Amino acid sequence: MDSRSSSIWSKVNSKFGIHHRNRFTKMGRIFLEHIGGSRMFSCAGCDTILTNRNELISTRFTGATGRAFLFNKVVNLTYSEVQDRVMLTGRHMVRDVSCKNCEAKLGWIYEFATEENQRYKEGRVILERALVTESDGLDQSGGF
Ligand SMILES: [Zn+2]
Repeated sequence: MDSRSSSIWSKVNSKFGIHHRNRFTKMGRIFLEHIGGSRMFSCAGCDTILTNRNELISTRFTGATGRAFLFNKVVNLTYSEVQDRVMLTGRHMVRDVSCKNCEAKLGWIYEFATEENQRYKEGRVILERALVTESDGLDQSGGF
């Protein structure tokens, strides 16, 4: 392993630590996080809330099933091992993401982009349009 790739992996591993702190289970029970907002995106399989419109960065992505959305923050996911993937926009380190509740695969997260102009995607999550449901959430404008 050359020094460049080892620095890539140390960066990936430090980000991995951040994700691990967000994942906690106790006695086998799944704890789901809650995220507010007026337009919610949830798992199409089980309706677990994943994110909302405020976290949406772009709808101009393409996933395995077609149109895909890029989000700033998504909750209630589990993450696969890091994979090295070459995409149209360059080489990326990604993890597949799945619903924490029903384990359906929903998209992927960008851990690291080798191209400077793709770095904005690091830590961001792709959800495939066909695998999520968009709905009106509770109006929480008076609260958090
Ligand atoms: Zn689900």
